[in-house]
Amino acid sequence: MFEKILIANRGEIACRVIRTARRLGIHSVAVYSEADRHALHVTMADEAVPIGPAPARDSYLCADKIIAAAQRTGAQAIHPGYGFLSENAAFATACAEAGITFIGPPPQAIAAMGSKSAAKRLMEAAGVPLVPGYHGEDQDEARLKQAADAMGYPVLLKATAGGGGKGMRVVTDAAEFGEALAAARREAQSSFGNDAMLVEKYLTRPRHVEIQVFCDGHDNAVYLFERDCSLQRRHQKVIEEAPAPGLSPVVRAQMGEAAVTAARAIGYRGAGTVEFLLDTDDSFYFMEMNTRLQVEHPVTEMITGQDLVEWQLRVAAGEPLPLAQDQLEIHGHAFEARIYAEDADQDFLPATGTLAFLQPPEESAHVRVDTGVLQGDSISVHYDPMIAKLIVWDEDRDRALTRLARALRDYRIAGTTTNVEFLYNLISVPAFRAADLDTGFIERHREQIFRSRDSEDPALVALAVLYLLLRRELAAGDIAATSLDPWSPWHSARGWRCNEPGRQELRLMIGARELCVAATAAGDHYLIESELGQTQASGGLDGECLHASLDGHRQAVTVTSHDGGHSLFTRDGALHFQDAAAAAVDEEETEGALTAPMNGTVIAVRVAPGATAAKGDVLLVLEAMKMEHSIRAPADGVVAELFYAEGDLVDGGAELVRFEPAGD
Ligand code: ADP
Repeated sequence: MFEKILIANRGEIACRVIRTARRLGIHSVAVYSEADRHALHVTMADEAVPIGPAPARDSYLCADKIIAAAQRTGAQAIHPGYGFLSENAAFATACAEAGITFIGPPPQAIAAMGSKSAAKRLMEAAGVPLVPGYHGEDQDEARLKQAADAMGYPVLLKATAGGGGKGMRVVTDAAEFGEALAAARREAQSSFGNDAMLVEKYLTRPRHVEIQVFCDGHDNAVYLFERDCSLQRRHQKVIEEAPAPGLSPVVRAQMGEAAVTAARAIGYRGAGTVEFLLDTDDSFYFMEMNTRLQVEHPVTEMITGQDLVEWQLRVAAGEPLPLAQDQLEIHGHAFEARIYAEDADQDFLPATGTLAFLQPPEESAHVRVDTGVLQGDSISVHYDPMIAKLIVWDEDRDRALTRLARALRDYRIAGTTTNVEFLYNLISVPAFRAADLDTGFIERHREQIFRSRDSEDPALVALAVLYLLLRRELAAGDIAATSLDPWSPWHSARGWRCNEPGRQELRLMIGARELCVAATAAGDHYLIESELGQTQASGGLDGECLHASLDGHRQAVTVTSHDGGHSLFTRDGALHFQDAAAAAVDEEETEGALTAPMNGTVIAVRVAPGATAAKGDVLLVLEAMKMEHSIRAPADGVVAELFYAEGDLVDGGAELVRFEPAGD
């Protein structure tokens, strides 16, 4: 076994690998960019080496710097994690040439799966079932269209070099084919520098079921069962679970064996994932193989009781697989929810910011939190906005799901927008508990998932108001305590008035909405009134714990104040709010000004000053956090002025284009 390994990654996966290394008595070396100088993975590792500026292309993607760091520290092997260099055959080769073990498959196995179409040809030859489609070399539009016409619509166009859902287009009708192909090619060219396409039959209600495989250098290969990753947004996984609900043992074994066949066909070694689409009639089709550890590997660990990173290290060190197929069993059920800094209501736009308050649920035999950040850390534009992976396990799916709901409620984050509420709403849809899953789930249940935020929960609002009132009392108490007359009524913060009930008015900002509330002090409580109703509230503050009684209902909730305002966390959800009197809300009129939704880089300017544009036309494309955002014309009109050029960096909120709507 190795004595020292280097982890060529950051965030939760680097921390995850370090944890296993430590348990096995292996020294760990972290690498870090300038932005990550104080990151958790750096403090967790035994040693850490700087590898350059924040942008990944100048640090985490620099193979030579990483190999030099391994040589400098005497690391015998490199674990690539996922993303970055994990599926880069040239990097695996460079490691070997430098005499360092790459903890992953042989370079030729990575290369074999690098192109979706080449991989499909290989799998076809190995007898692994494929989605009907065209994956040939001839990229002539007429040839592609002929393939689509022959298999019948809808079809899916996919970039052969694709990943992350980019360069994919569903074509529902022959008439749309040309336009969809052009768009998919453009996206593929700009994302992967390669616009080759394959055409597949588009399955209308598939599940995404993938098999975890493992091979060693002694001709052993096993599958560690499946994960169902059907819950997706933008073709990206949101919630994963294992085992796949309702999968029959026969189909499970067939899929497992097909995956092992696929791995053997390319001389695989180490951890890999073979992704399949499972159709409603139980037929399954190979989609692609990921030649690395997956983000969602923990659900497999939870149901098999195995540590897959340990398996990777053992295999890379030349040992045989720890277990044979007949020694592997499924025990219980596990879910993983990906906690992201993103705005689900704005088409999952990545968010940035400081994690002003971060309190994950308590870890136990049932709850695991894989994270790479601590309270006070920031989510920057440079990397993936993942905050953590929340993994839960229990004896069966129903109980595990109840635990997941509870753990999401206990995941308390303030300071940046997150998807926690979205995840909670998503798993609360009855069809999810009934395991009625397919990749269109989120779209189909939109109304239940993206619940209207037009009305707030009156109890949460009453708690928020009570908190603000108690803070005022405390602040007034502090002033009174230092005055010559501590009992003077002028120090009271209860809205005291001569011969009248004490009444205060508060304005609460909840998101972009303002809510006016009146609070009248009466005896030991307040009467809180707003358009949401009336509540009698009393209580006390003890640090971040608010002990409250609302109409006699007693509860203790967590509440915290930070730069962005205040955040309240209860069993029924979170409420982020501001005291409008205190908040300097900048309500400057911005009509006609198109602003950057976040920090990023302008990657394309599609119009010139003076150009006319129709509503919805793309004016400019911004790239932030590895995703593209199109800035579109809000109406028919004229581009009056452009403030940035291609390649410019822009700050979130910056005005990009001055646009004059027609008819003004
Ligand atoms: P990427 O590598 O870009 O993530 P994949 O090939 O893994 O792309 O596909 C991503 C997702 O797109 C799948 O999980 C599935 O939801 C959907 N998908 C892919 N191929 C098909 C298909 N032929 N029919 C229906 N959905 C598909």
